[in-house]
Amino acid sequence: MPDVFADLVGQDEAVAELRRAAAAAAVVLRVGTADRAPALITAGPASAVESGLAIGEAAPGGVDPSAGMTHAWIFTGPPGSGRSVAARAFAAALQCVHGTGCGECPGCRTTMGGTHADVRLVVPEGLSIGVNEMRALVLRAASTPSGGRWQVVVIEDADRLTEAAGNALLKAIEEPPPRTVFLLCAPSTHPDDISVTIRSRCRVVPLRQPPADAVAEVLARRDGIAPDVAQWAAAAAQGHVGRARRLARDPEARKRREAVLAVPRRLTGVGAAFDAASALIEAAEAEAEASVTEADTAERAALETALGAGGTGRGASGAIRGAAGQLKELEKRQKSRATRAQRDALDRALVDLAGFYRDALTMALRAPVAPVHTDTAALAGAGAQKWDAEGSLRRLEAVLACRAAIEANVKPRIAVEAMMLALWKG
Ligand SMILES: [Zn+2]
Repeated sequence: MPDVFADLVGQDEAVAELRRAAAAAAVVLRVGTADRAPALITAGPASAVESGLAIGEAAPGGVDPSAGMTHAWIFTGPPGSGRSVAARAFAAALQCVHGTGCGECPGCRTTMGGTHADVRLVVPEGLSIGVNEMRALVLRAASTPSGGRWQVVVIEDADRLTEAAGNALLKAIEEPPPRTVFLLCAPSTHPDDISVTIRSRCRVVPLRQPPADAVAEVLARRDGIAPDVAQWAAAAAQGHVGRARRLARDPEARKRREAVLAVPRRLTGVGAAFDAASALIEAAEAEAEASVTEADTAERAALETALGAGGTGRGASGAIRGAAGQLKELEKRQKSRATRAQRDALDRALVDLAGFYRDALTMALRAPVAPVHTDTAALAGAGAQKWDAEGSLRRLEAVLACRAAIEANVKPRIAVEAMMLALWKG
């Protein structure tokens, strides 16, 4: 039976560290129940955390200090490297009755299934996590764990915290309740992603982009995908495990990718460049809409039911006034989520496109590396001959500049049009 860390692909060092910490956490609980209340020492300056001094005070001598447990963690790594997978697995190991993350006990199973009462998962649906959401979360996280182990708060995309929300979180991390553990996920520890003060209170677990072979192996083993398909999808997804699985399984995802990779040969003039930009934007919008419509409708129906839509009689008009506010709030949230979904879809397309020009560049340089997109390798080869290394590099940079512009809030259509023109002109 694979344990909770089995799905963390190609991250042996991180897994070893998390296993040690889970074991140390179990020791803290054991010693604590014997005489005094257990507590984790608050992580002090970053240097102390990194040298592993933030060990539970109740841990007995003889334990490697670097194996210590601490109450605040940041998982960093490129998209798809498994930040949230790692955080969830670690949460499960903390709730595991054996303290190992066995994958079989109720603590492990409920955590992995998302139903453990002491594990709170924050998955931002919009562009940012607001202060109200964070305050409510911090308040609940301070309560005594009902299962007698840890209160675990997992914050996916902690880089999307608003400044106010970050401050609310910082306060909790600075003065943590004795049994509360915060697990943050962010692309990096760059100050743009996570504030320096929060970072200084956390231990960092860096994840790397898993090698294609490791991704292919897990797709074949766990998802039963044919080895050759798994190999192709792992390479095409450039180390992004979730994306590789979708490509291997979902014909729609494959079709969208093919449409994106058809862009380079369609760029025959200015008009064609604008058409390609429109097509890319509209495809991202359609993909995003498909992904959020169902949730939107269900949420609205649930809220209307809860508000007793259509109610009459005394008090109904006051209820309706309150209801209008709640519906407005819901619509705002849904709009923010739709925008996020569109950007994510567009970003996936840009990553695919960047892979194509990267293939052209490596071929022009005759670099001995495998292409990202094996199925368009011939086309990339033709591009390499026509554009040479310099032209290929300029095109690759145009795609990356487009991603950066959208990240910096340039209107997507404008950024994509500029990119298409640059790709056409070279
Ligand atoms: Zn377990």
